[in-house]
Amino acid sequence: MKTQKFIEREERYGAHNYHPLPVVLDKGEGPYVWDVEGKRYYDFLSAYSAVNQGHCHPKIVKAMTKQAKKLTLTSRAFYNSVLGEFEEYVTRYFGYDKVLPMNTGAEGVETALKLARKWAYNVKGTAEDEAVIVTCEGNFHGRTITVVSFSTDPDARKGYGPYTPGFVTIPYNDPDALEKTLEDNKNIAAFLVEPIQGEAGVNVPDDGYLKKVRDLCSKHNVLFIADEVQTGIARTGKLLACHHEEVRPDILILGKALSGGVYPVSAVLADNEIMLTIKPGEHGSTFGGNPIAARVAIAALEVVKEEKLAERAEKLGKIFRKEFSSIPSEMIVKVRGKGLLNAVVIRPKGGKTAWDVCVAMKENGVLAKPTHGHIIRFAPPLVIKEKELRDAMERIKGTFKQFE
Ligand code: PMP
Repeated sequence: MKTQKFIEREERYGAHNYHPLPVVLDKGEGPYVWDVEGKRYYDFLSAYSAVNQGHCHPKIVKAMTKQAKKLTLTSRAFYNSVLGEFEEYVTRYFGYDKVLPMNTGAEGVETALKLARKWAYNVKGTAEDEAVIVTCEGNFHGRTITVVSFSTDPDARKGYGPYTPGFVTIPYNDPDALEKTLEDNKNIAAFLVEPIQGEAGVNVPDDGYLKKVRDLCSKHNVLFIADEVQTGIARTGKLLACHHEEVRPDILILGKALSGGVYPVSAVLADNEIMLTIKPGEHGSTFGGNPIAARVAIAALEVVKEEKLAERAEKLGKIFRKEFSSIPSEMIVKVRGKGLLNAVVIRPKGGKTAWDVCVAMKENGVLAKPTHGHIIRFAPPLVIKEKELRDAMERIKGTFKQFE
């Protein structure tokens, strides 16, 4: 069956909640994917940074298949023989007392919000139903009703009301706005923030922002929640993006690359004072913490250390930004990012947009996707070799030349 047939079938039977690039993928290995026609591409999206360890990493796939033959799901009605090992491993890895495992990023965010509210009522002493959580303009934290309630993106939010109350929004990268908000409102439980706003187009805040956030939250007895679903696990050149400023959030949300993209695994990490506010029966998930997820996550985290993926992202990211900045194209307005989470702001030319650039890059063997119309995110698997990165860059350069 050829590309067009696959696309038509999805169009006919699937909901139209995505607008994919016209390529049908069939196989993946490391930084590469192949389409149904057998053409090979560099994957510069990495499933929104879930496939940091590369497609079908043999160690992670092996961990999954081995466990799949033994025990897949018990629910949390019973203990299972792998969950404790994962919990010990992941809490030591990131340095927290406890972990609460879920499946998707959005569920991780919901879990963090629930923890913050429980903590406000049980520990901080906020009056029942009065807790407020501060979020940022341009945020992306997932697709649930509560999460889109505090989205500022009309596409994500419009038509889904009535919205969940209890959230206020301030500008991103604005410590003064945070300070004023925290001073004015004594009911604030937490500040939820992405250390770099991924979906908004890789918005990197000023140096020192996260440090100021940490200080302000500590000063006002407010929880600092870092959503590192996209930025975490080596993507930005450190294990966590928060590590660039040596700050430790009170609640850490992880997802995506926690499984290397082979299985949905997310997790929320916090210390006892926060985590133990949720008691048996008060939160959960049928699949959260299942034996396959636990095995897969341990393997995925081991790969990050064994293959020094954070160091690779740091080094290759510098090469990427240097090479990209040297492309002589009027369409390139700005190149920004950290590690291998980068974006390029595109100025349309002769009616050609970021979408057209992505379609042309696809023809030249590189897959990337526009976000917000005029920004292209570039985030290859972190296992990409320097030689491969340079080859991909040549293809990207050639693409921009086509538009001159
Ligand atoms: N938080 C952030 C920062 C994200 O980038 C995303 C996904 N792009 C999510 C949460 C939601 O994750 P999921 O799609 O797995 O629910």
